[in-house]
Parts: sequence; C-alpha cells; structure tokens
Amino acid sequence: MLISKHMFSRVFLLNFSNVRLRNNISYLSRYLHSGRKPNPHQKNKFFLWYLPVYISPFQKEYLRTYVTMSKGDGENDGHIVSLVKCADFAAIKHRDQRRKDKEETPYINHPIGVARILTAEGGISDPIVLQAALLHDTVEDTETSFEELEKEFGKAVCDIVAEVTDDKSLPKMERKRLQIEHAPHKSREAKLVKLADKLYNLRDLEKCTPQGWTETRVQEYFQWASQVVKGLRNTNENLEKELDKLFNKRNIIVES
Ligand code: NDP
Ligand code: ZN
Repeated sequence: MLISKHMFSRVFLLNFSNVRLRNNISYLSRYLHSGRKPNPHQKNKFFLWYLPVYISPFQKEYLRTYVTMSKGDGENDGHIVSLVKCADFAAIKHRDQRRKDKEETPYINHPIGVARILTAEGGISDPIVLQAALLHDTVEDTETSFEELEKEFGKAVCDIVAEVTDDKSLPKMERKRLQIEHAPHKSREAKLVKLADKLYNLRDLEKCTPQGWTETRVQEYFQWASQVVKGLRNTNENLEKELDKLFNKRNIIVES
C-alpha cells in the first residue's frame, strides 16, 4: 500500500476543493513512491494536513477510490485490461439489442453510461464496481450465465452483477416489488451500480418517452424508481442528489 494508514489518517483532516485534494494526494503518492522522508520545509504542501476540518462524503469516496487505484502501476494496468475486457464482452453480448427510445440507440450505450455516471458523478474508481457496472445487464438481458462471468471476471464482480440481476422466471410486477424490498439489503457496491442504473434510465425517460408508453406509465416508472432508491440511500451523496432533482421535477415526494 503506497499510502500508509498514518499518512492516510492525516489526509482525512483535509478540507480542499477536489482539485486541490487530488494534487496533494498525488504529491503524497509520488513522494511515498520515492521512499524519501517528508521534507518539513515543504510546508506549503503539508501544513494544511493538520487542520481539523470537515471533509464531505464525496471527498471521502474520492479518497477511498484513489487509494484503491494507487496500489502500483502493475495493478492499475491489470484494472485497465479488465475494464476493456468487460466493455468488449458486454458489447458482444448486447450487440443485437437496442434501447427503447425512438432512435433505438444501441443497448451498449447504457452499461457504458452507467459506468461513466459512477466515475464522473459518483467519484467512483473502484475497478470491481466499474466492471460490474459494465456487465450489469448481461445475465438479465442476454444469454450470459453467472458461471461465465465468474470464470472471465472473478467472483467479486460476478457477485455484484448477481445482486443487481432480477430473477426473470418471476412475473414482471413481482420482480419490480422485489427490487423495492431487496434494495436496503444490498452490498454498498451493488447499491452504487443500482443508483447509477436508475439515474441513467430516468434521464433516458426524461429525454424521450419510449414508443408505446403513455405519460402515466412514465410517471409510474418514476414513482416505482423512487421507492427502490429509498432503499439505496446513504450510499453516494451526489448520485442521490441527482436522482432527487429528477424526482422533485415530477413532484414525487422523496422519502429518506
Ligand atoms: P419496462 O420494464 O418494460 O421498461 C423499463 C426498463 O427498460 C428500464 O428499467 C430499463 O432497464 C429498460 N430501458 C430500455 N430502454 C429504455 C429507455 N429508453 N428509457 C428507460 N428505460 C429503458 O417498464 P415498466 O416497468 O413500465 O413495465 C413493467 C411491466 O408492465 C412490463 O411488462 C410492461 O409491459 C407492463 N406495462 C406497464 C404499464 C404501466 O403503465 N406501468 C403499461 C403497460 C404495460 P435496463 O436497466 O435493464 O436497461
Ligand atoms: Zn441497466
């Protein structure tokens, strides 16, 4: 681990803008790589670590994922290779599918977009969560088995996908009811994927009503999604804030 527990606890006393935070952690990381002792004269870089100030949950998430990704070039290379493999696998599996919008957008735009929401808006760079996001609809919507996912991408990724996959042998309405019931009991990783998935789908519905859908159906979908999101709360501040914006626009009372 490049950032020792000792150093990391000090980092948590920071209160910077995210850019400032990133610069400082990146400096810390480089410095720890070099194996040198801290330079006490570089106060401009270090003195602010001791300020006892507030750090937002978003910054905390950033730090957590930064540390996950800061374990050395070899491991990072491995993560990148795995992510590209997931994107390729998902693209092949979803190749004949289209979204329900009028333009019939290629389905693969959705899992890639869910992963993008997690990184760009959720501040997530945990490679396991991102791999699961790319694969999250493969078992539910294509001829893919969990065995295949576990063999190709490992148990951790497969387990998250399993958590976000509906049991297709059940009637549709029962599956929707179970999503509400099961949401609070999911792992943090699965909740992240579900939050980003709901955000993506609701934004799609905002942009364009699928063919054959009435406005009532769209509104009911939002109502149902708000019930699922209720069980996913306190997982990622920013994603939840973005979802709440959409619910508020439709006058849906958000319960926390
Ligand atoms: P569906 O489950 O049929 O469709 C929504 C799902 O489709 C989303 O969760 C998303 O899943 C995927 N999707 C693909 N393209 C889009 C897009 N452009 N925008 C948003 N989502 C998209 O919807 P309902 O939940 O409304 O329907 C449930 C059941 O009830 C169905 O069997 C439906 O036929 C039936 N029904 C419901 C009516 C109603 O008024 N609620 C009326 C008539 C029928 P993913 O993340 O997997 O891509
Ligand atoms: Zn999805």
